Amino acid sequence: MTLLTFRFAPSPNGELHLGHAYSALLNQKLASATGGRLLLRIEDIDTTRCTPEFEASIFRDLEWLGLGWEQPVRRQSEHFSDYQAVLDRLISEELVYPAFMSRGEIRAFIADRERRGRDWPRDPDGVPLYPAVDKALTMKERQQRMAENVPFAWRLNVDAAVSRVGTGLSWLEFSDESLSATRTIETRPQDWGDVIVARREIPTSYHLAVVVDDALQGVSHVVRGQDLCSATGVQRLLQELLGLPQSGYFHHRLVLGPDGRKLSKSFADTGLAALREAGASPEDVRRLVGI
Ligand code: GLU
Repeated sequence: MTLLTFRFAPSPNGELHLGHAYSALLNQKLASATGGRLLLRIEDIDTTRCTPEFEASIFRDLEWLGLGWEQPVRRQSEHFSDYQAVLDRLISEELVYPAFMSRGEIRAFIADRERRGRDWPRDPDGVPLYPAVDKALTMKERQQRMAENVPFAWRLNVDAAVSRVGTGLSWLEFSDESLSATRTIETRPQDWGDVIVARREIPTSYHLAVVVDDALQGVSHVVRGQDLCSATGVQRLLQELLGLPQSGYFHHRLVLGPDGRKLSKSFADTGLAALREAGASPEDVRRLVGI
């Protein structure tokens, strides 16, 4: 029988908090209950927000918690050539296009349409979808702007992508922490519009790097927070386009702050380092998150 493979994949752009502790400990618990593997992946493609100091604090916190993981740890910033190869495929298959509008231009474009009485569509997180303007540019216009060094991001042409793989995309979601039951979740990646899959300077985005790495590392079970559930549709679409195997998913409950809201990396008093300095033990953390 093949071993089940789990992963914990934090981004070193802030301190880990109780929500991360729950996710890491749950992955560890499932790996050990099933005799499976636990991998650690450092998701540091955002070279402006991720720092070596935050990465060092991730290792410190996880070791303190008693998490054990397989070596080597995959650090995404060391694998840009893997993502570039996949991006090149998407470019040559014309499934992505260079999108040149700045944030300000997008805002102004949408405000103008809304002033004229049109409700602009939004993604499940409430972010307005990218206008279809750049998709209509000719190849010559695209090349000219790129040659002029106009900043751009590679966006997925979601309509082209969906017509390539067909509608009716779904994924297998485990229904509870014990992974004993599953259900099928239907998804409509179009709801996210033309998402960014890479940037001019960085040949990937969160979605692309996650699907490439989960496949390369043989991750069979993606166990992560509920806040990432709706993004799974985009990731399933990329898996289909790239012919990558799909994993099963469990999107777990979020650990909430005292105000009932999702924890954030700026929430200092639920940070693991702060708790440790205030005298908490790893057992206290387990108790706090219910593991
Ligand atoms: N790196 C992501 C985060 O820290 C998690 C990605 C994932 O688990 O798919 O939120």
